[in-house]
Amino acid sequence: MRLFECGSLVPGCEWHTRASDDAEVVRRAVEHMRTAHGETTIRENMVENIKQRIVDENTADAA
Ligand SMILES: [Zn+2]
Repeated sequence: MRLFECGSLVPGCEWHTRASDDAEVVRRAVEHMRTAHGETTIRENMVENIKQRIVDENTADAA
């Protein structure tokens, strides 16, 4: 599973999501940015920022 923790992008946010592929993680993360952080305009660099912070869940557990 792939894991994205919002706190790695928005300090203090406890939200996280996991899915079997990066595309689904990005889709959920973008939706969260809209609803929780008021990001009505999703810029391309935000998608890149999310992708860069997606980790393999096993790696995250070990850290
Ligand atoms: Zn968040």
